[in-house]
Amino acid sequence: MIIVPEREIADLMTREAAFDAVEKVFAAMASGDAYNFPVVREAIGHEDALYGFKGGFDKAGLTLGLKAGGYWPNNLEKKGIINHQSTVFLFDPDTGKAKAMVGGNLLTALRTAAASSVSIKHLARKDAKVIGMIGAGHQATFQLRSALEQRDFEKVIGWNFHPEMLPNLEKVAEEAGLPFEAVELDGIHEAGVIISITSSFDAILGADQVSAGTHIACMGTDTKGKQEVDPALLKRATVFTDEVAQSISIGEAQHAVGSGLITESDVNQLGAVINGTHPGRTRAEEITLFDGTGVGLQDLAVAASVVDLAVAQGIAIEVDF
Ligand code: NAD
Repeated sequence: MIIVPEREIADLMTREAAFDAVEKVFAAMASGDAYNFPVVREAIGHEDALYGFKGGFDKAGLTLGLKAGGYWPNNLEKKGIINHQSTVFLFDPDTGKAKAMVGGNLLTALRTAAASSVSIKHLARKDAKVIGMIGAGHQATFQLRSALEQRDFEKVIGWNFHPEMLPNLEKVAEEAGLPFEAVELDGIHEAGVIISITSSFDAILGADQVSAGTHIACMGTDTKGKQEVDPALLKRATVFTDEVAQSISIGEAQHAVGSGLITESDVNQLGAVINGTHPGRTRAEEITLFDGTGVGLQDLAVAASVVDLAVAQGIAIEVDF
């Protein structure tokens, strides 16, 4: 069995490799070659932790396994380690034998950023010049860094519930040589691409605060009850997702479907656009919305990619298991 510890991931994994892995697995999901298993998520009654498993099988990439992990709210304060903790386990699909164990913390951020970037590549207008961020936490910086590679953006604008966190975004914009401007929510209409990545449980962005032709990636809503945008925005937009079942139950579409504004059949797989079986954006003034809920197959895809890189670079630890 191969072990790739968390400490090695930053030097091994690139944004490009994460993007390629996620784009391929979204395509495989839409063509029926890959499927996710039902998600298990439990409050374990210890340390206020939420723990669970996300798994799946990709027949095209021959990737089988699961990500185990969750959220321990007291970690940082009591133990000096980050609150989100996860590990990916890969198995040989021919034999069921354990194949690899890979640190999953940084990979989670990279695969989540890759998902919104894949949506921008396939759905945003080519002439988008301003990117708008809603959210400025840990994931937001990964999201912005990756998104900036998808179009020739000239400016970053941002809004956050906690304005004191906005310098996190400004720093990433500066690294890319772009100006950053903090805006009120009404100012977000200037953006041709918007990413929302917050832990909000109420709609932040109104349906009329988004300009015609915008692509918006809603990435924060991954649990029942969470919400980032007015459900009326999903009615106004053409809606895409990583996985329809998750989008309508734990994703942003849970609210628009729950209130009858749209139905399950209005939610399209992004993988179908990648495969060319859905046309994607068809008009310049169309609003496209990607509901990124986060699927286990994304974790497996980036973990498999990092194992290949670790083996190629002689960094993988091999144990007899
Ligand atoms: P974080 O704690 O670092 O940042 C949280 C962000 O949400 C900050 O911008 C904060 O200001 C904002 N926020 C907090 N309370 C808010 C409120 N009441 N209203 C509006 N905004 C509020 O968290 P993070 O690690 O950046 O994660 C952000 C979100 O992304 C979480 O909800 C997390 O579950 C989700 N997430 C989704 C995926 C996916 O695949 N879709 C993957 C990882 C994380």
